[in-house]
Amino acid sequence: MDLQKIKLTRYILIAMAAGTVVGLTLGQIVEFATDPVTGKNLLDSKNRPILESSFAADYIVNGLFQFLSEAFIRSLKALVVPLVFVSLVCGTAAMDDVRKLGTVGLKTLGLYLGTTAIAITLAIVAALAIRPGIGVGTVDAREYIPAETKSLLQVFIDIFPDNLASAFVGGHMLQIIAAALAFGVALVVSGEHGKRVLNVFKDLNEVIMKLVILVMLMAPFGVFAKIAQVFAKEGFDTIFALAKYFILVIAVLIVHAVVVYPTLLKLFTGLNPRVFFRKIRNAQLFAFSTASSNATIPVTLRAAEDRLGASNKVASFTVPLGATINMDGTAIMQGVATVFIAQLSGIDLSVTQYLTVILAATMASVGTAGVPSAGLVMLTMVLGLVGLPPDKIGLIIGIDRLLDMVRTAVNITGDATITCIVAKSEGQLDKEIFDRPAEEESVS
Ligand code: ASP
Repeated sequence: MDLQKIKLTRYILIAMAAGTVVGLTLGQIVEFATDPVTGKNLLDSKNRPILESSFAADYIVNGLFQFLSEAFIRSLKALVVPLVFVSLVCGTAAMDDVRKLGTVGLKTLGLYLGTTAIAITLAIVAALAIRPGIGVGTVDAREYIPAETKSLLQVFIDIFPDNLASAFVGGHMLQIIAAALAFGVALVVSGEHGKRVLNVFKDLNEVIMKLVILVMLMAPFGVFAKIAQVFAKEGFDTIFALAKYFILVIAVLIVHAVVVYPTLLKLFTGLNPRVFFRKIRNAQLFAFSTASSNATIPVTLRAAEDRLGASNKVASFTVPLGATINMDGTAIMQGVATVFIAQLSGIDLSVTQYLTVILAATMASVGTAGVPSAGLVMLTMVLGLVGLPPDKIGLIIGIDRLLDMVRTAVNITGDATITCIVAKSEGQLDKEIFDRPAEEESVS
């Protein structure tokens, strides 16, 4: 099989369109299971509606589609921990001057937090102007049981693994990053022994990258099944009632992606934003379909190194870190949702409270993994801080999946933008690779 010939983007786009049509059609056939007493939809442990048993529900939506989408997403996720560790060890060990790690780290952190603060400020200002919480029709709120959130202190303590095995098994990304950095530095200072081990890591890195390509081949099937499942299951019946909220979140997400990022990119690097967008399209599509920046790491990393031209030294650090702590799209949803819930509840928040929201959401994004619906968990904490009722989140869960998909694509766009900025500033961006014509993404 000639992998070069496979035009992945085209197949994924076709799969998305087909998945949408099939999903919406199935959505007309399947029914939601309801509680015989209250008449309300029954929900699973993730607050998602359960389908009434039928052939289409049991064998297609929860059968075949479940298999195809899970097989794809699980395979992608399985690669994340080994890929991040091996790639970051190689990247760290390649730093000629270990002190550079500090500069790259500080720059990356500053830019990640800075862009998140811009994102949430934009969202709050837009929501205060448009007032999405005024004049909302009747919405069937799902019961929402707020999840436990960690204290900020614990988030920072948790960066340090106390057990390497559990860091790997649990996929604790910040701990894995910390361990890889330490291991990479140790390799550099271990002389010949270090060199021998590093060579094994370099070979492993190549092999894992090939595995990423193999898993990407599953994408058209996985994406089709996942999108069809989301559209068949979610129903999105509340979109109309919450249209103002929904459209506003999407609008701010788009503005952030097509105005803020390109401006920063142009300003700091002089790179052409159009080329940038063309080259990360595949990663955006993966993020959209999986709703997980974490599961998308292998694809984002590949785009950053092989298509945007960022060096492994920089990208192997900035991409996994970004997928874990940089969630501008999520912050945007939280900004709009906070104002929306305040307006619905008839509560006027003070300027200090809005500043609290900006600070809290920016810091909270550090501690939450890039997995589906993580943003809602963080929202619980943000609302709690300014005294808004977290159970009101039940109102927006019904339409959150679609927003989650869009904001995840924005999240990884932010990671790629900052990767380019940091790489360029460190002289670690190969302009020749960046400028290479981006014919349709082929899996090679
Ligand atoms: N799904 C998002 C991500 O993985 C997080 C969220 O907003 O829920 O980046």
